[in-house]
Amino acid sequence: MKEIVQEKWNSKRPLIISGPCSAETEEQVLETATRLAATNKVDVLRAGIWKPRTRPGSFEGVGVKGLPWLLNAKKKTGIPTTVEVATAKQVEDSLNFDVDILWIGARTTVNPFSVQEVADALKGVDVPVLIKNPINPDLELWTGAVERIAKAGVKQIGLIHRGFSSYGNTEYRNAPMWHLAIEMKRRNPSLMMICDPSHICGRRDILQDISQKSIDLDFDGLMIESHIDPDNAWSDAKQQVTPEVLSSMLEELVWRKEDVSSEAFHIALQSLREQINQLDDELMQILGQRMKIADKIGEYKKNNNVTILQTNRWNEILERAFKKGELLGLSKDFITKYFDAVHMESINHQKKIMDQ
Ligand code: PEP
Ligand code: MN
Repeated sequence: MKEIVQEKWNSKRPLIISGPCSAETEEQVLETATRLAATNKVDVLRAGIWKPRTRPGSFEGVGVKGLPWLLNAKKKTGIPTTVEVATAKQVEDSLNFDVDILWIGARTTVNPFSVQEVADALKGVDVPVLIKNPINPDLELWTGAVERIAKAGVKQIGLIHRGFSSYGNTEYRNAPMWHLAIEMKRRNPSLMMICDPSHICGRRDILQDISQKSIDLDFDGLMIESHIDPDNAWSDAKQQVTPEVLSSMLEELVWRKEDVSSEAFHIALQSLREQINQLDDELMQILGQRMKIADKIGEYKKNNNVTILQTNRWNEILERAFKKGELLGLSKDFITKYFDAVHMESINHQKKIMDQ
């Protein structure tokens, strides 16, 4: 089994992990595993044994008694297993029952004490570990968890992007904030990055879209929750799908390659990328010039003792930009974010002048 896991870890892309949010009963685990195995598309069986629930009183997992169920499921189907661990005891119990891959959940990644405890329990143990992003959008915490686990000597570390908690976000259970996952990938090119659409979406109807998006961003795999009776699942009922639905979802995904060998394709891509580089350089030059003008305005304002921010002027800039942006096919959301950033930089420039 160890060799299978090694091989999958090293070369199986996309790596597909699926299984219930929580192990509930032995029958449920076995039937899920059997139906997943029948799809022939699942590489690793997941199941939560200890569930970190937001509020006490909801189902908190079956605990250690679920581990032999997973071991049985693995024996029957040949599919390696993975569970979430948050304490040294959970690491020890999981390893005693031959769990093949451990994962650190989002609520654990936020807590350096817990991550360190898990890391200490992993010293001298050769088991792959997947690390989910912390619930809050903080790449340093995510990076810190990777460093702690790596320092313990774990060689095979992977990342799972499961979205981030945010205010005012109704579309997703956890906002994908793709730019953060992309930045984490950029910082850790050698670590595999898996997407967990289930916890990003929190509902079934947009799982396909989010899965496709992650593939288009060149993620290395997917972790999607599946259940034999999703509506009656003991946790995360709204986001789970049956093994058969999972199978058709995976079938419909378009797997694009990061690289294709055709020379003509490379040349065309290179040329377009150069144009982008050129335009980015020009944009930076222009932004630099814009800030120089902001500095001048800052000096005038300082000499005449007026405030930096003049709300009317800011509204006027935005209104102008929305109109122009529409003609150029730029979304209002992009224009707002872009001008907010430029405006903030401008204010900082002017503030420096004012403070001199
Ligand atoms: C889970 O995978 O069931 C889980 C609890 O996920 P997360 O840590 O991403 O919330
Ligand atoms: Mn879940």
